[in-house]
Amino acid sequence: MPGLDDLPFALPAFEPGSVWLTGAGPGDPGLLTLTALHGLRHADIVIHDALLDPRLLGLVRSDAAIEAWGKRGGRASPHQSEITARLIELARQGRRVLRLKGGDPFVFGRGAEEALALAAARVPFRIVPGITAGIGGLAYAGLPVTAGEANSAFAFVTGHGPDGGLPDDLDRVALAPVLVVFMGLAHLAEFSRRLVAAGRSPDEAAALVASAATPRQRVVETRLADLAESAAAHALEPPALVVVGPVVALRQRLDWWHPQAEGGLNA
Ligand code: SAH
Repeated sequence: MPGLDDLPFALPAFEPGSVWLTGAGPGDPGLLTLTALHGLRHADIVIHDALLDPRLLGLVRSDAAIEAWGKRGGRASPHQSEITARLIELARQGRRVLRLKGGDPFVFGRGAEEALALAAARVPFRIVPGITAGIGGLAYAGLPVTAGEANSAFAFVTGHGPDGGLPDDLDRVALAPVLVVFMGLAHLAEFSRRLVAAGRSPDEAAALVASAATPRQRVVETRLADLAESAAAHALEPPALVVVGPVVALRQRLDWWHPQAEGGLNA
């Protein structure tokens, strides 16, 4: 496999008995980092979650093992403690364990929880950051998270907090000029209502982006008050992000990516 060995810098050695918590990027497999690709080529076993382009698994060694441990809202999914126990067990067997996650492992991806468990078990680990859907995925939908005079800050919000719903402190988070909501499809009506109650205009520009940076990408522009209606009218399904704020207005000029036009490159 030519390429990675000819780089003008060294990529880290994947030590037996260690775990690499690795981000796979938002969808387009070409957005994988060099370190992630290097890790996939050297791993003895890959433990991956549900939001992944299956072609990424074609990058692993032919003798490597692959285990799917998807966590997916609504479906029966393994408990987080089972996943961390498996990572620790495999590392203690002396394997090179690559834990592959969608986007970035430290953005609503349970990467911190897994790293803390590895640290507590004294299993050596590396974090391989990935491009989060909340930035790179939105870029494929022509939505910058910051732009010139549009906004001086943005906030990442989970729609699936510790209690399974919107976070308690949404009123404070609502002050950020741009909000990017992960896992928010289930609570759109409540989200809009609480943001308007916190002082935002119901007419504010908002967008829904489903399956960003994949051949199935769909983008719906709407207004804050109409998020739930728009998602239902377009039958949007997870994974999807919600964006609220002035950057949404830039999309008309920045809508650069059309998966169908790429001649199968991303199909
Ligand atoms: N660690 C991931 C996020 C995991 S939480 C990251 O950094 O991107 C899972 C949520 O991320 C989904 O419910 C959805 O809100 C969002 N998401 C992940 N991939 C996405 C994609 N390709 N398009 C839209 N949303 C996506």
